[in-house]
Amino acid sequence: MGHEPLAYEKLRTFEGRVAATEAEGLDPVNAPMIRHWCEAMGDTNPAYEGPDAIAPPTMLQAWTMAGLTSYEGRSPAHDELFALLDGAGYTSVVATDCEQEYLRPLRPGDAITYDSVIESVSPLKTTKLGTGHFITTRMNVRAGGEIAGTHRFRILKYTPAKRSSSNGAAKKDKRQRPRPVVNRDNAGFWEGVADHRLLIQRCRACGTLRFPWLPGCNTCGGQEWDTVEASGEGTVYSYVVMHHPPFPAFDPPYAVGLIELAEGVRMVSNVVGVPSDKVRIGMPVRLEFLRADDELELPVFRVVDDAEGGEV
Ligand SMILES: [Zn+2]
Repeated sequence: MGHEPLAYEKLRTFEGRVAATEAEGLDPVNAPMIRHWCEAMGDTNPAYEGPDAIAPPTMLQAWTMAGLTSYEGRSPAHDELFALLDGAGYTSVVATDCEQEYLRPLRPGDAITYDSVIESVSPLKTTKLGTGHFITTRMNVRAGGEIAGTHRFRILKYTPAKRSSSNGAAKKDKRQRPRPVVNRDNAGFWEGVADHRLLIQRCRACGTLRFPWLPGCNTCGGQEWDTVEASGEGTVYSYVVMHHPPFPAFDPPYAVGLIELAEGVRMVSNVVGVPSDKVRIGMPVRLEFLRADDELELPVFRVVDDAEGGEV
């Protein structure tokens, strides 16, 4: 890309340099932020409420956050290091991990100060995302001047890996649907799919049908089984329409249905043949096999137009 190569020796001179000093938390440790945190995390630990409440230890970094608009407290060293890496083409940044150590509990009313230091800059590393340097910053969080915990934060400052530019093939491979997990307990099901037969397990002892495939019968515990082939007729028992999160192999919105087969068992599958917002509970559907790619075929269910007896 025509960037000057960056000497690692130069980057290492940043190790130990101060990234923030005597910075103050925007708010003292306080009950409303603790409550919101606990709600968001689903943490109902009673230690975090009441007159003797402490703050959840993992909130450590929350007390040091500068808000969305302010970066005050960052030192010239930090900006200088980032500018150097930007200049060398390592323009992307991703947070990779953090480690915290707790030395004493924080309580509502504690005023927070913190300082941070650039602890290490790694040699050049190549990851799936791209090539760059890991930067570890260590923050010491203090309450009333006394150290309460440390927060180590690691980022990768990198040049994104080149995407394969052969518009098509390489990209397409990455967008394949996930592969099913085929094991001894369900191999027979996938063998059936390969023959365009939807097979339901049947308990040899009590005759109960079961789906998905399992090693034993939920009704009697019997482990002997054979199969019956589904007629392929069914109805939409329930469904969801997926909008988010996007996943490269799928094209939202799409309907994921819980299909009740004529034989009485239910299975999760795609509902096809109508736009996802037209799928309704109770719609009759019929099995067909979708070839997703060269290696993968899947049973899906197409909506049947019952008024005309034909397919939509
Ligand atoms: Zn049984």
